[in-house]
Amino acid sequence: MDCIFCKIIKGDIPSYKVYEDENVVAFLDISQITKGHTLIVPKKHVKNVYEMDESLASKVFVAVPKIANAIKKTYNPIGLNVINNNEKPHQSVDHFHIHLIPRYSDDNFKINFINRQEQFNPEDYENIRNKIKRNI
Ligand code: 5GP
Ligand code: ZN
Repeated sequence: MDCIFCKIIKGDIPSYKVYEDENVVAFLDISQITKGHTLIVPKKHVKNVYEMDESLASKVFVAVPKIANAIKKTYNPIGLNVINNNEKPHQSVDHFHIHLIPRYSDDNFKINFINRQEQFNPEDYENIRNKIKRNI
């Protein structure tokens, strides 16, 4: 399988690893959207969040506060985004990964949270809630 993150995990291609345990590896994202931008990846190859079972998810997500606090301690950012892209439009590497992106006042990185609340009435919320709930 030609997976760039599996190669990084195996050490076949170089990376700047900041953390490793038996289940996960964390290394600097080569793009460094902001200084300290780090990826957390499971050692087991799963494509995306839909392929994760609960056991793997708990092993991966437990590393998030650990690495987030290390970044905070290191760079004292004003904030930090935890982002995971699945499929389109943003996933470019098909091996599950969580971005930890520390935020700085002049970082020029924009996430556009659009508030569309006025387009939904209580019945809409109820319908959406019920549809999702049924599928859990
Ligand atoms: P995605 O767009 O899938 O959410 O994020 C994939 C990330 O992997 C990108 O931010 C990209 O910079 C990073 N990336 C891709 N190839 C490499 C690589 O070879 N080494 C490292 N360290 N990061 C990579
Ligand atoms: Zn992989």
